Amino acid sequence: MLGSNRLIAISQFLTGIYKVLAGLHSPINLKYRLLVPHSFKRKHTIMSIKNMKAEHIAEFFRRLKTKNPEPKSELEWTNPFTLLVAVVLSAQATDIGVNKATKKLFQTVNTPEKMLALGEDGLKEHIKTIGLFNTKAKNVIKLSQMLVDDYGSEVPEDRDALVKLPGVGRKTANVVLNVVFGQPTMAVDTHIFRVSNRTGMAPGKTPEKVEQALLRSVPEEFALHAHHWLILHGRYICKARKPDCPACPVHDLCKFKEKTA
Ligand code: SF4
Repeated sequence: MLGSNRLIAISQFLTGIYKVLAGLHSPINLKYRLLVPHSFKRKHTIMSIKNMKAEHIAEFFRRLKTKNPEPKSELEWTNPFTLLVAVVLSAQATDIGVNKATKKLFQTVNTPEKMLALGEDGLKEHIKTIGLFNTKAKNVIKLSQMLVDDYGSEVPEDRDALVKLPGVGRKTANVVLNVVFGQPTMAVDTHIFRVSNRTGMAPGKTPEKVEQALLRSVPEEFALHAHHWLILHGRYICKARKPDCPACPVHDLCKFKEKTA
């Protein structure tokens, strides 16, 4: 038979091992684990590890601005309507591929009325090299009809109206509001989503969360062009598979832990 003192000692020893393994050895951690839900902790752990300081965000954009003072969309367009169509066509496609398809199209078809006259089958002929062209052609014809019927053939300067157009989501509306109407929106695409999370500038699990974080953290003086700087940075430097960290102008500001050598 074990004496009571030995039993107490063994029990304390086993409890100690359990706490170390479970990460509960500190009373503060124990309270934290018990009181704070897992999702909340995870979110705040991400935020505390990755967030970039405000002065570093300003410096980040200062450097990108120095390299490219007036960044532009790489999509080609001639008026608000052709920009809207180009952005709708660019979903899950490259800007280069869209430009190839629209080069000839936009020379003659540059208003909603002309698009309706061309018709769905005529449009498909022009854009058949672009992914999802059947659906996109349908949407472009429907949105052209809505522009004629409801907006006097003009592209509306209004987010709610834009997102009601077929094929137009929040990101497309943000591009149009920014590029055509000069609003400081953040159109979060795959590049911006990646760069914002990697660098710690605006971490978020969804494009909308990243958008809100960018709207909060990008200094006003850079807000108008911020989304173009981030897209171009993500497209050419902070690439998805292998970011070019050695050539990156914001290397020292970036919080990404797995920078390439
Ligand atoms: S250092 Fe690397 S990961 Fe960070 S922004 Fe530059 S390219 Fe992207």
